[in-house]
Amino acid sequence: MSECIFCGIVSGSVPATMVRRDDDVVAFRDTNPQAPAHILVVPSEHVVSAAELTPAHDRVWARMLHVAQAIAEDENLDGEGYRLVVNVGPRGGQTVDHLHIHLLGGRQMTWPPG
Ligand code: 5GP
Ligand code: ZN
Repeated sequence: MSECIFCGIVSGSVPATMVRRDDDVVAFRDTNPQAPAHILVVPSEHVVSAAELTPAHDRVWARMLHVAQAIAEDENLDGEGYRLVVNVGPRGGQTVDHLHIHLLGGRQMTWPPG
């Protein structure tokens, strides 16, 4: 998976502004932020998308959600609220084929998304 940009960030070969890291999950700031806070939470393991999740990923998926929750608290977003987004496949707007949760906050979100 040497061509996967997020695997590169996980391994440290691609620079990123890290927010959190443990054995299973890495979180870093999006280079093209769509909100005052825009953080990507990814599994260390290469998983293409949410469509590829299996029961074997249950633990890491839950970990990703807990890390997102903890970051929201650290960034003082939990009081007013924030948005978690997972784009899946081309029509879902996914552009990087390594599973990631977008954590967006610091402004009022609208619905529906584009
Ligand atoms: P997607 O469109 O797949 O849901 O989201 C991919 C996100 O990754 C986009 O918001 C994009 O700005 C971000 N992104 C793409 N390449 C890089 C990179 O090299 N570093 C970081 N930190 N973010 C990236
Ligand atoms: Zn990857």
